[in-house]
Amino acid sequence: MGRTKLINLWYRIYADFLMPSRLLIYSRFLEEVLRRGYAICSVARFWEKIEKGQAHPREKYFVLRHDVDTDTATAKAMWQIEQALGVRSSYYFRLTTLDISFMRDIALSGGEASYHYEELATVAKQNHLKSRDQVFREMPTIRKLFHENLKILREKSGLPLNIVASHGDFVNRKLKMYNWEILKDGDFRKTVGVDLEVYDDVFVRNISRRHSDNLYPSFWKPENPLQAVRAEAPRVYVLVHPRHWRTNPKVNFVDNVHRVFEGVRYSL
Ligand SMILES: [Zn+2]
Repeated sequence: MGRTKLINLWYRIYADFLMPSRLLIYSRFLEEVLRRGYAICSVARFWEKIEKGQAHPREKYFVLRHDVDTDTATAKAMWQIEQALGVRSSYYFRLTTLDISFMRDIALSGGEASYHYEELATVAKQNHLKSRDQVFREMPTIRKLFHENLKILREKSGLPLNIVASHGDFVNRKLKMYNWEILKDGDFRKTVGVDLEVYDDVFVRNISRRHSDNLYPSFWKPENPLQAVRAEAPRVYVLVHPRHWRTNPKVNFVDNVHRVFEGVRYSL
């Protein structure tokens, strides 16, 4: 194993099992955003303002999205912090991290809870699809599965789930094909009642700076959003993942084993 690989493995072990909680940093981070005069809002709230032409050019917006990829418990802890600060944001859940009563609580408090979908990756893994052509041939099956899952989720949660966010899996990176390709078809979108996919150009072009949290030791991509906040960028968009803010050794262990298992199975 090369030196870089070894270092990266150590970073992963540290981030997944040893890193002290960064939730206090998270709280301080949001406090500074608020102190600097930003309106923190969910994707849904910001989109509503854009659509109605109510996003004031002089107002500073901070759109806050959480992708709950693995750790629902830490997502809850982050939500509690936001509740204490009066912040409303977006939480997108995978089928593996669903928590219907938590989703309802988020919505009741004025935030947004919706679906972090991955049916393209799921079917690609199940059926060992290795090329874009193979995936395109399976698109009717993939779309059918997405529609079924969305229907079940709507029934269970009573939430509209009209805005959804694509999850990124290792298979998506391998295929260079992302889950949002499920929603490229306008007619299909209408059929399933999806108004916005968070990666849509029509949404993204309203944002001035986009940031995402990242694994230890860099923590942010492309840089800490507080730089944009301190520079008074008008519309800052931040994606966070609970996993990067507090380690959940049990969940991370299971997830890592699962990922290795899936990787091996897919490559066979
Ligand atoms: Zn994700």
